[in-house]
Amino acid sequence: MIRKDEVEMETTDMNGLGGKQKSRQPIADSRSLKSETRPLYPQRPEGKWHNRRVAFSIAIIALLFIVPFIRIDGQQLVLLNVIERKFIVFGVFIGPQDYWLFGLTMLSFFVFIVLFTTVFGRLWCGWACPQTVFMEMVFRKIEYAIEGDAGKQKLLDKAPWTPEKIMKKGLKYTLFLIVSFAIANLLLAYVLGTDELSKIISEPIEAHIGLFSGIVLFTAVFYWNFAWLREQACTVVCPYGRLQSVLLDRNSINVAYDHERGEPRGKLHKGSDRTEGDCINCFQCVAVCPTGIDIRNGTQMECVNCTACIDACDAIMDKVGFDRGLIRYTSENAIVKKTTKVITPRTWGYAAVLVLLWSALGFVVATRTDTQTTLFRAPGSRYIENSDGTISNLYTFKIFNKTNRIIKPSIRLDSPHGKLLFAGSPDLTLDAAGMSEGTVFVIIPKTELKSRKTVVKLSLSQGDRQLETIETTFIAPEE
Ligand code: SF4
Ligand code: SF4
Repeated sequence: MIRKDEVEMETTDMNGLGGKQKSRQPIADSRSLKSETRPLYPQRPEGKWHNRRVAFSIAIIALLFIVPFIRIDGQQLVLLNVIERKFIVFGVFIGPQDYWLFGLTMLSFFVFIVLFTTVFGRLWCGWACPQTVFMEMVFRKIEYAIEGDAGKQKLLDKAPWTPEKIMKKGLKYTLFLIVSFAIANLLLAYVLGTDELSKIISEPIEAHIGLFSGIVLFTAVFYWNFAWLREQACTVVCPYGRLQSVLLDRNSINVAYDHERGEPRGKLHKGSDRTEGDCINCFQCVAVCPTGIDIRNGTQMECVNCTACIDACDAIMDKVGFDRGLIRYTSENAIVKKTTKVITPRTWGYAAVLVLLWSALGFVVATRTDTQTTLFRAPGSRYIENSDGTISNLYTFKIFNKTNRIIKPSIRLDSPHGKLLFAGSPDLTLDAAGMSEGTVFVIIPKTELKSRKTVVKLSLSQGDRQLETIETTFIAPEE
C-alpha cells in the first residue's frame, strides 16, 4: 500500500474543467461546460460498480426483448399502442374507454416516480433507463472494442482518412445501424404488437409500406440518437433530468462526492505531510464521466448516476492507500451531518398519496366490466301506445368492448316484464376494443307500469356470463 505522502499523481484534465470550486448547491447545471467539449471521450469504465451494471444491463436487455413475446390468454403481456390508445399492462387491457383506469395508472406511475426519485435519486437513469443501458452497455462497448479507449478514439478522430480509419469507422457505424434497426423493431413490438411486426417482416414490403417506413424512420432516429446525440438525450432532451431540481432533496441517495472528506483537494507530493483532503485532484472521475461533468461541483442535472466515477475514484483511492468511497452512493445530509434519513415527512406524504391512488386503481380494476354500454331514449321520440295494450319507448345504444378479444353479447330485458324489439337485425359482435350500436324498442304491457316513469333494467350477457347491467327510464302516458 502506498502512503499519502509517497505518491504524486499525474493529473489529467480530460475535459478542461478546473474543478477547484466547491458548490454546495443541491443541483447545479453545467450544460455550458459540456457543450464546449463535445464530442466527449469518456474513458472506459471498469470496477465493481461497472461489473454490477453490466450484469444488470444484460438482464434488462434480455427482458426488453423477451417481454413482447410473452402472452397471457393469447394477448401480449405488455403492449403500449399509443396510436390506437390500447395498452396491455401485465395482462390488464386498457382501451380507449378506460379513461379512469388510464388516468389513475398514469397518475400512480407519476407519483411512484416522484417518490422513488426523492428517496433513491436517479437510480433509474443509471441502471435501468433504456437510453443509458443501450448507450453505455451496447453502443459505447462497440466503440471501445473497435476504436479503443478514449485517447485512441480522440487520435483516430483527428487522424486523416486512412484505409484503417475507414475500416474502423465503417465497421462501427454499420454495427450501430444494425443495433438501431433491432431497437426500432423492438419498439414496434411494444407499440404495434409482435403479430403485426411479424407480418411486416414476413409479408411483402408493399403490403405494409407505411409500417415499414416507420421501422426505417425509427432506425434512423435511434442511429442519430446513439451515434450523435448520445449524452445530450439525457442532459438536454429528457424531461426527467429537468425535474431533478424539484424532486431531490438533501436526503436523496445519489452518486455524490464527499466534499467534507475530499476538500481542500490537492495533488499528492512525495515526502511532504498531507494537509489537504483526500481528493488528489487526479480528474479520473471527470475522465470517465459519460456526460462530461465534474461530480465534485455538487449534484448536477447532467449526472445520470452511472457510477463510473465511483469506480474511477475507488481505483485511485486504492492506489494511494486511502479509504474507498470518496465518491459513493450517499446523501448530502449523510455527508454534512453524518445522518441518513431516507424516510422523511415528504416521502411519507408521497407514499400516502400513492397508497390512495393504488387503492383507487385496485377498486377500478376489480369492479371493471368487460363492456360499457350507453342506452338513451332516442332524441325527440315519445312513448307509443300499441293496440295490444303495450307501451313502446325507442332507445339508441352503444356497446364498447373494453377487452382485447371478440365479444358476442346479447341484450335482455330483466324488469319489468316485457320484450325488446331491435330495429333491423343488428350484429352486436364486438371486435377487440371495438364498438357496436343500434336502436331498440322496449315494449312493456300497461299492466306492468305503475307510474309515468318506470326504471327498466336490462342486462348484457355472453352465453351464461353476465357482462353488465343497465338501467334507464321508461315513459308511459299519465293514468
Ligand atoms: S474525486 Fe477521486 S477521482 Fe475525482 S479527482 Fe478527486 S481523487 Fe481523483
Ligand atoms: S458524475 Fe459520475 S455518476 Fe454522474 S454521470 Fe458522471 S460518471 Fe456518471
